[in-house]
Formats: sequence, C-alpha cells, structure tokens
Amino acid sequence: MVALRSFSSWECCFELISLALFLALSLALPLAQEKQYVGFATLPNQVHRKSVKKGFDFTLMVAGESGMGKSTLVNSLFLTDLYKDRKLLNAEERINQTVEIIKHTVDIEEKGVKLKLTIVDTPGFGDAVNNNECWKPITDYIDQQFEQYFRDESGLNRKNIQDNRVHCCLYFIPPFGHGLRPVDVEFMKALHEKVNVVPLIAKADCLTPSEIKKLKDRVRDEIERFGIKVYQFPECDSDEDEEFKQLDKELKECCPFAVIGSNTVVEARGQRVRGRLYPWGIVEVENQSHCDFVKLRNILIRSHMHDLKDVTCDMHYENYRAQCIQDMTSKLTQDNRMESPIPMLPLPTPDVETDRLIKMKDEEVIMFNITQTANERVGSVSGACARACRRYS
Ligand code: GDP
Repeated sequence: MVALRSFSSWECCFELISLALFLALSLALPLAQEKQYVGFATLPNQVHRKSVKKGFDFTLMVAGESGMGKSTLVNSLFLTDLYKDRKLLNAEERINQTVEIIKHTVDIEEKGVKLKLTIVDTPGFGDAVNNNECWKPITDYIDQQFEQYFRDESGLNRKNIQDNRVHCCLYFIPPFGHGLRPVDVEFMKALHEKVNVVPLIAKADCLTPSEIKKLKDRVRDEIERFGIKVYQFPECDSDEDEEFKQLDKELKECCPFAVIGSNTVVEARGQRVRGRLYPWGIVEVENQSHCDFVKLRNILIRSHMHDLKDVTCDMHYENYRAQCIQDMTSKLTQDNRMESPIPMLPLPTPDVETDRLIKMKDEEVIMFNITQTANERVGSVSGACARACRRYS
C-alpha cells in the first residue's frame, strides 16, 4: 500500500517535471526561432541602397509632327529646359528635311535619387510632302539600340553595359482631326512590337471636354480596329485596396491621355502655376479637370517607369534577341549546309497561369503543415495538463 502510494507520488512528480519541461520548451521554441534570425530580411534595403548608389536611367522617345508641343510637354514633365539649343527650320528648309534622331541627356536628382534621362526626339517626322515610310529611321534607331545591347551583352565587359534601349514612346496625335490619320496608324503599327507606345492627344486645350471625349473614344476604337498594341498597364493586385483599384481603373480609361504643355508660370487663384494664359482665362497644366497631364506624369515617372523598363527588357528586347538568334542559326545552317548546332524549336511562351497555380499549391501545403504542427502541439500540451490534473486530484 505504502509502496503503491510512494510510486504514485513519484510518477506524479515525474509527470509534473515533464510538463514543466514541455511548457518551457514550447515557449522557448519561438524565442529560439527568433534568435535564429539570419538577416536576409535586410535584402530589400541592400537592393535599395545599391540601386540608389548606381542611379537610374530612362529613355523616352517623343514622336509626332513638329509644332505638336512635344518639347514643351517634355520640359513641363521634367521641369528642365532640354531644348535650349534647338534650331527651328523654316518651311523651305523643311522641304528636303528627312527624319532626324536627336538625343538630349540630362542628369536629374531628387531627394538623393539620380536619374539619367534621355529624350530621343524625332524632328521631321510627318512633316514632308510625302510621308511614305517616314517612321523607318525611328524603327531603325530602336533596332540599333537593341543590337548594341545584344552585342554588349555577348561581349567581355558585360558589367558596364550602357543601356540606350528606348523604354517608352510618347506619340502625339493632333487634336484637330476626326481620329487617327493613316500616318498615325502606320507609325504605331511599325513601332508597337519594338517599344511601349503611349498615345497622347496633343494640345488638348484646343478642344472642349465633350470633344475630347469623342476624340478619345474614336482613337480607342481605331486602335482596337487596326490591331495596334499600345502599352498595356499591368493588372493591379487583387489584395490592393478599393481606392487604389479605382484610381488604377481611371488611369487605364484615360488613355489616350489628353495633354497640355507650357513653359510659363502664371498666377491662378492666388497661386503661381504652370499654365497658358488666354484672353478668356487660364488653362492649368496640372489641373486634372483641364487635362490628363498629371495622370501621364504619374504613370511615366511615379508609378510605371519601372514597368515600362521591365516590358522593354522582358518583351521587346527578348523578341528582338530571339529573332536575332534564330536568324543567326538559320544563316549558319545555310552557310554550312549542315544541321544547325542549336535546334530551332518554336519559342516557348511562358505559362504564367501554371506558375501561379503551382505557387498557390505550394503555399497551401506550407500553411497546412504549419496548422497541423500547431494543432499537434496544442493537443499534447492540453493532454499533459489533463493528465497532471487527474493525478493531483
Ligand atoms: P514641337 O515642335 O512638337 O516640339 O512643339 P513645341 O513644343 O515647340 O510647341 C510648338 C508651339 O505650340 C509653341 O508655340 C508652344 O508654345 C505651343 N504649344 C505647346 N504645347 C501646347 C499646348 O498644350 N497647347 C497649345 N495651345 N499650344 C501649345
């Protein structure tokens, strides 16, 4: 009887000790996990620091007839005077003028972040009596930049490649017509697979709000009818808040952006603003009820500059590169009259949907494992507690 009682108290003691140990371990585990912090959470900071140190670059092309307000808009967008030395040609000089490509580069800095901005201007485009193939020098220029990058990438000094690829082309549609002109259609079709084309309705202050709406609808219809692929804004994430989604929707609906440019500062409502002073009133460049300038600036600079660069690199340049490699391989095969060393397979298209589903499934499995481990732990703690209580009582 005594032996039985002493065994039971010993067992109870053991049970209590093991419970205490278990609880201590369970509590200590998260702490231990915290202690095992290795520090890769600082990776975004490291990337941020490195990118800021290196600086950013962006190449913007502007195209459209002369006098459409291209230089004024660029100056208004970046608040710099990029066209100080521009020489304007008279009508006689312009008769024989061919399309030129002129690059202006400026280094701008804002809050310690450096941006090397290159503006590629295309004076002479659409100005001749015969505008047949006037987009050719422009497409050639874009291809040359891809070619240069391709060469540099295949060369020895890959680390210091100068990226001159054109990331975006602002195409100025005149406000005076009834939609797109043949030259606009041909230009955009010639460029849309090489560069991100963003169509703009120039000098929007020449039109009333209802005229702007009508012209925008018409341009949108024609863009679709002629199969022109203008820059597509990326879909916003499903977990974004409603306000952001609404803004994103408005932004997409705004294309083609109706813009106004000005190099002068005027006084409106007691404030100094960039605008145009007319005998009947003031049109403010940054007033969202006057034009889409702010929206355009936001997508170009504040929200989508990186996406424009990504699309250039991952889509337009990749297409060029793939085409180049295929041409080179087929030329090699023809020259040597032998089997190509690199099999020419149809280029695979990335299956984004499959990747997404695989990722989702992986996350589900991880979540399931975590929940199961937690349930097991809670179950064993409560079991031990119940056993200990039973023994005590
Ligand atoms: P570019 O040849 O296309 O570079 O055109 P400019 O920027 O030199 O502008 C040509 C003329 O149009 C100038 O007199 C500008 O002041 C004027 N201009 C520029 N932007 C606008 C605008 O948004 N609305 C109006 N009404 N005129 C503009």
